[in-house]
Amino acid sequence: MKFAHETLPQRVVFAPGESAAAVAAEVAALGARKAMLIASDREAALADPIAREIPVAVRHEEVVMHVPVEVAARAREAAAACGADVLVSVGGGSTTGLAKAVALTTGLPVVAVPTTYAGSEATNVWGLTEGETKTTGVDNAVLPRSVVYDATLLASLPGGLSVASGLNAMAHCVDSFWGPRADPIDRALAQEGVRALAAGLPVVAGDPAGREGIEQTLYGSYLAAVSFAGAGSGLHHKICHVLGGMFDLPHAQTHAVVLPHVLAFNAPHAPDAERRIAQAFGSDTASAGLAALRARLDAPTALKEYGMPEDGIARAVAPILAAAPAGNPAPVTEDAVTGLLRAAWEGSEPS
Ligand code: NAD
Repeated sequence: MKFAHETLPQRVVFAPGESAAAVAAEVAALGARKAMLIASDREAALADPIAREIPVAVRHEEVVMHVPVEVAARAREAAAACGADVLVSVGGGSTTGLAKAVALTTGLPVVAVPTTYAGSEATNVWGLTEGETKTTGVDNAVLPRSVVYDATLLASLPGGLSVASGLNAMAHCVDSFWGPRADPIDRALAQEGVRALAAGLPVVAGDPAGREGIEQTLYGSYLAAVSFAGAGSGLHHKICHVLGGMFDLPHAQTHAVVLPHVLAFNAPHAPDAERRIAQAFGSDTASAGLAALRARLDAPTALKEYGMPEDGIARAVAPILAAAPAGNPAPVTEDAVTGLLRAAWEGSEPS
């Protein structure tokens, strides 16, 4: 064993039904007096009880997926105009992403209250979009100081989005087995993440508002994000990043569709990942475990249903080959990527 692992500094609070008090405690512990509360209009009702317990200087609702630079600029202006000394985000990965964009240039601390399973709250990765180009970067200034997980806030997440978002978290776990910096600590977290997500997601699918399933899934999605932050983007995330940027596909659903194809592609060349993912699923093989879970969830299956054009398969191959990590377990060839994309586009069985 020879490796260097960086553990990111962050407080994590699980407080089911008590996010308002928990966020107030985190804000007070930071010594903050002027909060910029970021929540989109769809998340406003979830943020209202929190707003009543913290010193809100401004509420900011303009949240757009993938954080366009002009949206980030307006949020930074709003933070400066009110003299904010803390950013509180209540929402999915897009909302967390906007808080991170403000933190990137202002250095303000973030208290994140996630309402999906995207996991952005546990990474030091930021993303900004200019035109059709999404740029990501790593900076510890954007890592939320505190995360408050409140399962009751996810009760309103529609069933289909819960499933897709939970499979986005599953993708963080799976890619963490072979990401460019993956180490034994990342893999240990990822394996427990697979187990927790596989336990929680079917419960969520059956009862999207039930607390027990959401708690398990939130716990799994936190582990997923921490392992992913350590391991870095593997082939799966590189593919989804290219496809999302080129065809403006929905984030969580794209991950949900592509994951089984990347797992089937890499697992035969990654015996340790194959064994441990299968073990976490309690199945004979990793792919069989994921397939069985997806069947129970009625998971998204085909990129063509989310707006990817058929000629996009050929167009995406070169950028994916350019982005693929050098150490990917399976050799990443033009033929292999074409076959993988076609299967994901039409929704055929992974091979
Ligand atoms: P999202 O934040 O765009 O949310 C999807 C939709 O669900 C939105 O309309 C939102 O308002 C709504 N919603 C959120 N929570 C809800 C709730 N509890 N009840 C009802 N509706 C709710 O989507 P997402 O998948 O959470 O995040 C995707 C974004 O996060 C992408 O831009 C992605 O790149 C980014 N991301 C970043 C990282 C990172 O480490 N930087 C990690 C994961 C995702």
